[in-house]
Amino acid sequence: MRTAVVVGAGMAGLAAAGALARAGWRVMLLERGERVAAPPTAMVLWPNGLRALESLNPEGGWSAIASPLPDGGVRRPDGQWLVPPRTRAGACHAPAVVHLEDLYDALVAGLGDRVEIRTGVAVSGVRVGSGRRPAVVDGRTEHEADLVVAADGIDSPVRRALAPEAAAVGSGFAAWQAVIPGWRTPALTGEQAAGGETLGAGYRFVSIPLSRRGGVYWVATAAGAARPESPATQLALLRRWFAGWHAPVSELLAATEPEDLVPQEVRELRPLPRAYGFGSGPGGVVLLGDAAHAMPHHLGQGACLAFEDAATLRSLTADVAPGPELHAAIDAYSRARRPRTTTVVRQTRRMSAVVQARGRLALRARDAALNQLRPRLLGHAHGLAADWNPPD
Ligand SMILES: Cc1cc2nc3c(=O)[nH]c(=O)nc-3n(C[C@H](O)[C@H](O)[C@H](O)COP(=O)(O)OP(=O)(O)OC[C@H]3O[C@@H](n4cnc5c(N)ncnc54)[C@H](O)[C@@H]3O)c2cc1C
Repeated sequence: MRTAVVVGAGMAGLAAAGALARAGWRVMLLERGERVAAPPTAMVLWPNGLRALESLNPEGGWSAIASPLPDGGVRRPDGQWLVPPRTRAGACHAPAVVHLEDLYDALVAGLGDRVEIRTGVAVSGVRVGSGRRPAVVDGRTEHEADLVVAADGIDSPVRRALAPEAAAVGSGFAAWQAVIPGWRTPALTGEQAAGGETLGAGYRFVSIPLSRRGGVYWVATAAGAARPESPATQLALLRRWFAGWHAPVSELLAATEPEDLVPQEVRELRPLPRAYGFGSGPGGVVLLGDAAHAMPHHLGQGACLAFEDAATLRSLTADVAPGPELHAAIDAYSRARRPRTTTVVRQTRRMSAVVQARGRLALRARDAALNQLRPRLLGHAHGLAADWNPPD
């Protein structure tokens, strides 16, 4: 039986492991954490991500765990509309928001019994070449397989060894995410409850109702480095930075507890790896998810692209045998995924420049341009999403 080792049990690794197992591979999933656990936050699933998930596991019940994403528009901190909300035409794959605990549960449920999960295993390197199948190394143990899938995030040691040109660098932002549970969510008026996006000078606040589960998800972004302080102090800082912003920004921050807060330094890979696939003997290694194409979060596409990666990999490797067939599939994976992710990364960086605008003139130019820019940018993002379909 064909064997695969998947490194990392984040969203990318879980999706890839389940997909390969369903295509008949025997899979070992290695995770450095003591357990497979979702961060206590949420994310947007754009139509491309939803389509990829449905193609990976049609039984996954994805729409049952996701809430529709209303278009809450874009405002200035004083509440003035930069872009008023529009009604989204009903589509079968409209964007949705999902709590990561629900998403991880569904991905884990999709692993089946052909996936052996080993936690507490930190992979430190990869062995390729010498005509042998690839192997990942954890301390002194080697895990060899026909296919190694590196889904171990932006600091992937496997990518560092195979694509040292791709460096993980700061994007110039810090981000904070939180989910306020339903019972602690403040009472919001209809317009406030729809959520939305607010852009200040180097600051951004987005809130989204989790209508199916209850509660509100928010993500705040500020220019500058990640903060070293305790969550309680960081929350106090956020309340200060966003004080005076229109309702319900302050209300949501007031209802947030320090333990709700998920602070992150926003980082990206620059440049992207020159390839996402590498042969070794009759097998090879592929990079998937943030290990391949970590990017700033402004278009909310990182995980969606990881699901696309997994769907593409599953499709290309479904019936291939180790040897030339597998090599051709690995090459095809790299050729399909690198241009696609490069385009999305380019769009994301443009969006970063909009969010990062600071200074009176830059802000005035941004606000004036936003009405045209946002539909164009988001239109493009939606176009990207609409353009992608799972491979047969
Ligand atoms: C603020 C913010 C908001 C975002 N919002 C969205 C959104 O709305 N929509 C969207 O699609 N994307 C969003 N993203 C991006 C998304 O979160 C990432 O793209 C996604 O989490 C990447 O998943 P991954 O599995 O590739 O990597 P990770 O989530 O980093 O998972 C890697 C896994 O590998 C494990 N691991 C790491 N190193 C090793 C090792 N050496 N050995 C073994 N295991 C290892 C880790 O413990 C982890 O479990 C957002 C990102 C941020 C920062």
